[in-house]
Amino acid sequence: MPTIPVIIIGAGPVGLSASIALSRQGICNIVIEKHPSTSIHPKARGVNVRTMELCRIWGAEQQIRQSELPVTARRFLWMNHVQGEIQGDVSFVTEQEELSPTEPCLLSQDIFEQKLLVCLKTQKNSQVHFDTRVINVEQDDQFVYCELENLIDQTRTRIQAQYLIAADGANSFVRKKLNISMDGIPLLGTHVSVYCETDLSSWLSDKPFAVMAFTDKEQMGRVMMAVDLKRRWIFSKRVADVNEILTKEAGIQLVRATVDEPELAVNVINISKWEMAALNAQQYRHGRIFLCGDAAHRIPPTGGMGMNTGIGDVHNLAWKIAYVIQGYADQTLLDSYEQERKPLAQTTIDWSVINANRLRAIFQSLIDGNSHAFYEGLKEQAKHINHIGLDIGFTYGESQGFDPNTYKSKAVVGMRAPHCWLSYNNRIISTIDLFEKNYVLLAGKNCMVEKIKIPIPEKYPKTTLVIDKDVHILNQDFYACYQLTKEQAILVRPDGHIAWIS
Ligand SMILES: Cc1cc2nc3c(=O)[nH]c(=O)nc-3n(C[C@H](O)[C@H](O)[C@H](O)COP(=O)(O)OP(=O)(O)OC[C@H]3O[C@@H](n4cnc5c(N)ncnc54)[C@H](O)[C@@H]3O)c2cc1C
Repeated sequence: MPTIPVIIIGAGPVGLSASIALSRQGICNIVIEKHPSTSIHPKARGVNVRTMELCRIWGAEQQIRQSELPVTARRFLWMNHVQGEIQGDVSFVTEQEELSPTEPCLLSQDIFEQKLLVCLKTQKNSQVHFDTRVINVEQDDQFVYCELENLIDQTRTRIQAQYLIAADGANSFVRKKLNISMDGIPLLGTHVSVYCETDLSSWLSDKPFAVMAFTDKEQMGRVMMAVDLKRRWIFSKRVADVNEILTKEAGIQLVRATVDEPELAVNVINISKWEMAALNAQQYRHGRIFLCGDAAHRIPPTGGMGMNTGIGDVHNLAWKIAYVIQGYADQTLLDSYEQERKPLAQTTIDWSVINANRLRAIFQSLIDGNSHAFYEGLKEQAKHINHIGLDIGFTYGESQGFDPNTYKSKAVVGMRAPHCWLSYNNRIISTIDLFEKNYVLLAGKNCMVEKIKIPIPEKYPKTTLVIDKDVHILNQDFYACYQLTKEQAILVRPDGHIAWIS
């Protein structure tokens, strides 16, 4: 039976990212996906600043930026109806130059997945198999065994791996097979999203947006999302009946009713029904199997964190699996995956539920005809769509307390090491770009590096960089940004989180 270091189930954004991150650590892996391609339905569109930092490290950022929505679309509009007036305009804050070498990006998930797939195909340790379903998973002390079904010719094969990443989505077959329960709220509402092509330029060409909600009573509860801001859109609404039939004709009627144009030409591309839930798996690790992304946590989309959190999961896990497979660390390192990611996912779930309630309060104010409450509710929406603290301000370890909406550069053990521009080997880079495979000791110019005893196992690969000797600070004050003295040093993990400060 062929043995592969890591099998990944699911070529969603999380599985694809897992493959890229493992490959770049030198770990061969194979992604198994039951569909013939990546997703054809554009669910997410908010790629946050941390995900973009990872894409930058993976060399995928420029490709992704080529397809992003324009900066002018970075807003959540409230209109009375499509052909009406703007009632509220809540903008995304994107001036983060001091905080990151990059910025968030608006791009629909289907395109984002295609870009990740292109990046994956340039990695020499990655392979993807589409049209292949994992039908059984078992494990013992040494291996995980997967039974695969080729959906074209129905042939079955078995493969084994040292580790398995289950990135198989919200209805994770692996999670169910392992009997791992989820805690939280199983159903916050059932929604239908109609992905279509239609020409709305007469009404919307001068109003770029990412998301639009409506204030007129007959339109209330419907949401529009821009896919390419030209012809492709998603029209979404909450449905009472889970069994409501999703015919194309019903989709066309929803679009026409929302635009208030009974004869509008609409081409429905596809329709998806999704359930909003707020759930966190009781366990993220079971022996050699790890749950990641929606398989591990179901985060309400109010805040746009599901995909971003899942990509953070696999970035946290990939270097740990690599260190174990490469013999630098023993298996206990892998326990820290759940310890670090599960509390963060819970914080993100709770925050997203608060956002759902913030939206509900706005709709209630409209139902009550209370315009004061409506405008107060709009002010609260800034906290819904801007979440720099959740993106880059969280801390692994004991002190999980942080504000999801704010972030200030500082060096705290467990936090992402702050961004500063550097000159390194005659290239201008960010500190963020320094961290991928090795632990990095970043030492102040007067630090007695030879006398430092760093608290990590001898075997771990490490690099020492002394400020003003190996790296040169450019336009920011490194010491102020990191709140360190010139005598101090800081040790950063391969995932860019601070491990230790002298
Ligand atoms: C309306 C909406 C808006 C959203 N907006 C945002 C946003 O702005 N930002 C954000 O971060 N998140 C957002 N999300 C959430 C985001 O879409 C999900 O969190 C994300 O898709 C999860 O990625 P995943 O890879 O974990 O799972 P999925 O995308 O579900 O991928 C799982 C993959 O596994 C495959 N699979 C499953 N079982 C098997 C099997 N047995 N064998 C082989 N393959 C299998 C599936 O076919 C699928 O391709 C939004 C969600 C919705 C519904």
